[in-house]
Amino acid sequence: MRSELTILKLGGSVITFKDKPLTPNMPAIRRLAHEIAISGSSPLIIVHGGGSFGHSLAAEYKIAEGLKNQGQMIGFSKTHNMFARLNMLVVEALMDVGIPAVGFAPSSFIITRRCRIIGLHRDILDQAIKTGFTPVLYGDVVLDYDQGFAVLSGDQIAAKLAVEFSAKRIIFGVDVDGLYTCDPKVNPEAHLLSEVTTSDLRRISALVGGSRAVDVTGGMMGKMMEIMDPASKGIETLIINALKENNVYRALRGEGVVGTRIIRG
Ligand code: ADP
Repeated sequence: MRSELTILKLGGSVITFKDKPLTPNMPAIRRLAHEIAISGSSPLIIVHGGGSFGHSLAAEYKIAEGLKNQGQMIGFSKTHNMFARLNMLVVEALMDVGIPAVGFAPSSFIITRRCRIIGLHRDILDQAIKTGFTPVLYGDVVLDYDQGFAVLSGDQIAAKLAVEFSAKRIIFGVDVDGLYTCDPKVNPEAHLLSEVTTSDLRRISALVGGSRAVDVTGGMMGKMMEIMDPASKGIETLIINALKENNVYRALRGEGVVGTRIIRG
């Protein structure tokens, strides 16, 4: 049975300045915390991305390639620590507006095989939600049965939680208005797709690199792949611009927001 749970994913492009290493976007974090608080949305799990926190370290130590030499071990620790620091900033901003937020490090209860989540100890999260807490998870480095360790995206975590907890809806907040026909930051001709079906999505992701009507790259392509599972299970799935004031507030309240709705079909 579907629960009342909402999963809110806040992109790294929203809560950090992606082109400036280790730079949180504090005004955006504080505004979003306020919007989440006044929306009254509950139960809620927040997942955020890492953005400029940690990704340069992850690249420096080649964490995504898995454990190949002992020199990478300290890199794993450093990267995890950096993501955890960003999480503390987000959790603090939420507490400042009265939300009983608790940070949960994915590396401490999620494990992957070939970079895909295969183990997630959900009982603590379950109980946290039942008690009335707002868990705050994040893209992290995690242990991987096959390759030692891996980088686990906030998108994969959010999608997995939505399915695992039979969430009512999953909202992805990014720095553009939703899914466009191509990257709106690169091509001014890009136009927003307000509704996309899961079969459209399947076609889009199968056509990576080919000629196509919809051109999705980078982080947005990863997001589309992750979205497929919750959306095909009928979970309300929405991509919105979380840098625009009140969008997250309105989406959490179930009010209309400019964005892309992914529907089963
Ligand atoms: P986040 O870190 O917030 O989760 P990403 O940076 O991973 O988000 O992905 C969002 C980015 O994907 C946008 O800023 C945009 O530049 C890029 N992008 C590429 N193709 C598309 C597309 N077809 N529609 C929308 N955004 C796209």
